[in-house]
Amino acid sequence: MLPVIALVGRPNVGKSTLFNQLTRSRDALVADYPGLTRDRKYGEANLEGRTFVVIDTGGISGEEEGIDSHMAGQSLQAIEEADAVLFMVDAREGLNAADEALAAHLRQRNKQFHLVVNKIDGIDETLALSDFYRLGIDSMFGIAASHGRGVRSMIGQVLAAFPDEPEPDLLEEQPGSIRVAVVGRPNVGKSTLVNRLLGEERVVVYDQPGTTRDSIYINYCRGEKDYTLIDTAGVRRRKNVREVVEKFSIVKTLRAIDDAHVVVLVMDAHEGIVDQDLHLLGHCIEAGRGLVLAVNKWDGIEPEQRDWIRNELGRRLVFADYADIHYISALHGTGVGHLYKSIDAAYRAATRKLSTNQLTRILESAVADHAPPMVNGRRIKLRYAHAGGQNPPLIIIHGNQTGKVPPSYQRYLEKIYRRELELHGTPVRIEFRTAE
Ligand code: GDP
Ligand code: GDP
Repeated sequence: MLPVIALVGRPNVGKSTLFNQLTRSRDALVADYPGLTRDRKYGEANLEGRTFVVIDTGGISGEEEGIDSHMAGQSLQAIEEADAVLFMVDAREGLNAADEALAAHLRQRNKQFHLVVNKIDGIDETLALSDFYRLGIDSMFGIAASHGRGVRSMIGQVLAAFPDEPEPDLLEEQPGSIRVAVVGRPNVGKSTLVNRLLGEERVVVYDQPGTTRDSIYINYCRGEKDYTLIDTAGVRRRKNVREVVEKFSIVKTLRAIDDAHVVVLVMDAHEGIVDQDLHLLGHCIEAGRGLVLAVNKWDGIEPEQRDWIRNELGRRLVFADYADIHYISALHGTGVGHLYKSIDAAYRAATRKLSTNQLTRILESAVADHAPPMVNGRRIKLRYAHAGGQNPPLIIIHGNQTGKVPPSYQRYLEKIYRRELELHGTPVRIEFRTAE
């Protein structure tokens, strides 16, 4: 389970600075979701070997309008979505009325929260913290976000409260089941597609688990294969079709992606690819999951526009060119059955066992065809390769000066491995180790 940490506090206490500090190494994922979340900002962070989501709430303005109205909007929602809240204050300004009002408000919510006294660089930490004891918050950290000081140990302690492993029920109950997440922006047709995928003739749905998880996990079998569909749209939770459609939640979506073997990313043919699609796609790639792209509502596209749209999508999706693109109509069921072929292929590729022999042979032939460059008058030597993990396949290559392998050569190796091993539908990761 991916823990979610929200940053709240008055403007200028350093929330964005901390957010950037935490998500810096992965800023490809830092996403604004305009229209969905106003200016809440989500990022994925990786620290102390743990991955988590950070939400920057942008800022709750001064006390002049009354605390409820400040909290009412996006900050409140961020707090609701979060597992833990970091309540930030400014060491240099000391405690003020707005902080006290915020603290009171947070206390009413049943959430784990911590007081973070920021900007302790160049001042006496003990003295700075002492001013804030009055808030009566037991868990208190002094940090300097802009210097990164105290940040790691704080995150380590905050995350200690959350289990590191995926919740065991799913993995233990359905071993060997292919976990498929259906994700996408609101209204692209996820619910319709989920119903179609489950409603196919060959599908036997085992159960509709009443679950407290934020997505629904539905076990079923199709032909000989077991699947667990991770339904972010919450179709099966609704008792009847009239019930309100689930609210789109980015956190829920990110968790579903992380939990899946293969992600079906649904897009709307009428709207083309919008930023939110690209952010979700970025997350799929970063998470290393198998990927199938479903361009939905194809029924509404005029035949003479179809080639143009296909070309345009292909062009914009080049960085995920390992994924199959399907043009479907969830509404009419057209093309939906074909999705399974790609899902199965992506799963097979993502979880394939790769032998040291095979990987080394491919490496040798790739190097023979096209040697790595010289660095400081010495040629980079790549000696052997072995598998380092699955979903995504990780290939570890040993040699000399491997730190100097240029990105272009890394991409070349990736391409060769993908081709030789038929790793279709999954990203491939390559890591280098130096023997020197
Ligand atoms: P936000 O409005 O809460 O998101 O605050 P920002 O992250 O934009 O920071 C407000 C100001 O405080 C900026 O000028 C930052 O450079 C500064 N700042 C943030 N963290 C630190 C820190 O640890 N030490 C110092 N001295 N300044 C900081
Ligand atoms: P979700 O928010 O992603 O779960 O989207 P829904 O499944 O609720 O679909 C949103 C709207 O798009 C509904 O009005 C659906 O009837 C419609 N829709 C879904 N799939 C298709 C499709 O393949 N073709 C057309 N024309 N409309 C569709």
